[in-house]
This record gives sequence, structure tokens and C-alpha cells, in this order.
Amino acid sequence: MPGKYYTEERECNRCGATYDAPYMIGVRQPMRSLCSDCNSDQKEERIERVLSEHPDVWYRPNSEDKEIAVYKPDGGRWYFRHDSKAVERIKQVYQEQEEG
Ligand SMILES: [Zn+2]
Repeated sequence: MPGKYYTEERECNRCGATYDAPYMIGVRQPMRSLCSDCNSDQKEERIERVLSEHPDVWYRPNSEDKEIAVYKPDGGRWYFRHDSKAVERIKQVYQEQEEG
């Protein structure tokens, strides 16, 4: 389970801005190597990338409060308010084998 962590000032890997990086105790690499601005840019890019890699497993529902729907393997749907949650689910369900 998550241990204790601390923060230390370091430079963003992308833009060089100084930010408080979170470190797990005993781990040399920070949990985030980008400042919060670059981190959210990177998150957007990841969302775009995953959605474009899997155009056949999601669609935009005609709904005011659900932004995206993802097909369940059994034919049902998951509805999400934000793309970021949908991307997590797509990765879990459809990209499991990829990283090995
Ligand atoms: Zn940055």
C-alpha cells in the first residue's frame, strides 16, 4: 500500500519550471517528473492518444451530463462524465496485454 511520501523542489523535465515534486520514501524517482501545467498537458495528450488508438470502443452519447460512453466487452456500456475516467477504463479493459 502507498507508503509515506515527501515533496522536494525540482525542475520540470519539460519546461524547466520549479515545482514541488512528490517522492515516495526510498524511491529516487519522483512520482511526477513534470510540473502541474505540463502534467495536465501530458494527461490531455494521453487521453487524445488512447481515444485515437481505440476509436471503435467508445462514442459520444447524446447526453448533457455524460461526455463519453465506452463499450463493455459483454455489449453493455459504461458512461463517464469525463474522458479521463473513460481512458482509464479503456486502458484497463482493452490495453491490458500491451505493456508486457
Ligand atoms: Zn513544466
